[in-house]
Amino acid sequence: IIESLSDLEKVEVLGHGDGGTVYKVRHKKSSCIYALKVLRFDNNAATGILQQVAREAEILKLVDSPYVIRCHGVFDSGAFMSPDHSNNEGGGDLCFVMEYMEGGSLHDVLRARQRLPEQLISRVAKCVLQGLRYLHAMQIVHRDIKPSNLLINGRGEIKIADFGVSHMVAGADEACDLHMGTYAYMSPERFDPERWGGRNADGFAGDVWSLGLVVLQCYVGRFPLIGPGQKPDWPTLMCVICFGDQRLEMPETASPEFRSFIWRCLEKDWRKRAKVDELLDHPFVNKTCCASTDQELVNFVFPVD
Ligand code: ADP
Ligand code: MG
Repeated sequence: IIESLSDLEKVEVLGHGDGGTVYKVRHKKSSCIYALKVLRFDNNAATGILQQVAREAEILKLVDSPYVIRCHGVFDSGAFMSPDHSNNEGGGDLCFVMEYMEGGSLHDVLRARQRLPEQLISRVAKCVLQGLRYLHAMQIVHRDIKPSNLLINGRGEIKIADFGVSHMVAGADEACDLHMGTYAYMSPERFDPERWGGRNADGFAGDVWSLGLVVLQCYVGRFPLIGPGQKPDWPTLMCVICFGDQRLEMPETASPEFRSFIWRCLEKDWRKRAKVDELLDHPFVNKTCCASTDQELVNFVFPVD
């Protein structure tokens, strides 16, 4: 049990993101390793946002699924960053103690290995879908499914991370704060609500779209919607996401099951797009996944040379 941030010592930095920094930390008494996400608030942060984040943090503590990163505690203090507590006035830090995922993110895996074989992509898809089924049943829309938010541990388990909290912090004013990481995986109905009926969308279908792009990226080895030399800026993405034909991106070499799976995720009209339950019954998730084991994913992520 972690009673306060002073029970923890920093080991190293694991990653930087929109809202803050993630550290690898050790629980001094037990030597257990955790990940600690530190979100920094400056004095200008609106009270409304702080309240929203606090509420989201409460939800995070309730989330209990093997497919979603577990949160062991939330601490509201500047103490961890500044031992003399000089940082506590006004702004300060919000710290999340989470389970540590030693394989890093799918983004890291793709950077190291470029592509995944279909059987392993199918494992990724299955885990993410089970995580989404859990979150959606709790009425939580993730809104930021992308490779850097899917983490892998030493047992070959894949879990969804980073929902809501940092996104709300960084995306308080979406219009001016959006950048590549935030909108590349965004569905047509979120990108252009007027044209794609997004005003009536509940948001769940947007997570399915993002998953479709992630699995396609695992197969082709790069962000799939734009060419290798193209800049992923707002107008370009707007063009391909809202007006492009995703069928053109469909890899010819992929199995029919995989192509059909991607096609059900990347249906532009969110009303016709597959729901999470349909995709969990899809042959790509059921059949292809059985052709591999957790151990194969472990060997792929942690190659022994
Ligand atoms: P942000 O909101 O800043 O994007 P994330 O929660 O996505 O924060 O974390 C940023 C990065 O830190 C991730 O892409 C991953 O590389 C690393 N990371 C985050 N959480 C963990 C964890 N629990 N275990 C290992 N690495 C993590
Ligand atoms: Mg992230």
